[in-house]
Amino acid sequence: MNYIKQHIIPMAIAALGSFVVYILLSIFSDMLPVLLPSLKEIAVVVYIKMILLLIAIILILVLIICAIINKSKPHKPRAMSGKFHNIEWSAEIEYREGREYRDVRTHIVWLCPKYKTPLSLKQMDAPNAKYHTLYCSKCKKTHDVENKGEIIPAENADMTVRREILKNIDI
Ligand SMILES: [Zn+2]
Repeated sequence: MNYIKQHIIPMAIAALGSFVVYILLSIFSDMLPVLLPSLKEIAVVVYIKMILLLIAIILILVLIICAIINKSKPHKPRAMSGKFHNIEWSAEIEYREGREYRDVRTHIVWLCPKYKTPLSLKQMDAPNAKYHTLYCSKCKKTHDVENKGEIIPAENADMTVRREILKNIDI
């Protein structure tokens, strides 16, 4: 039953749709000389061009309708990528049951600016607090997220990017 719903019905609708368009076009081309007697003088090539133009217009309309339908669907990407200050990131997005932002899981991976390989977290000890920065096993050094020379801890960068992702999805 599912197979019929998913494959046969859309195919039947498409076939019927093109059949209707074909009939309409052929009626239109038969009627044209009756409606506009001056067209009798026009060469067959011009007819064909007009029909092709009509088909093109119909195709464009169909594409526009498809685009509108597509836009009205909720935007639920499975992955996203971007750049936060100097460091690029990519994220996998997981939607769990429920319709709240806390039901959306974001797995953010930071990437080495040079090799685009995933970075790991390294704990740093500041005088007042502990925080993490991004460490690259390939370059054997840290790649800090920096804003005008000021280091942004990995935790804060993660939070900001997560907020950015949530702003751009529908749940
Ligand atoms: Zn690196």
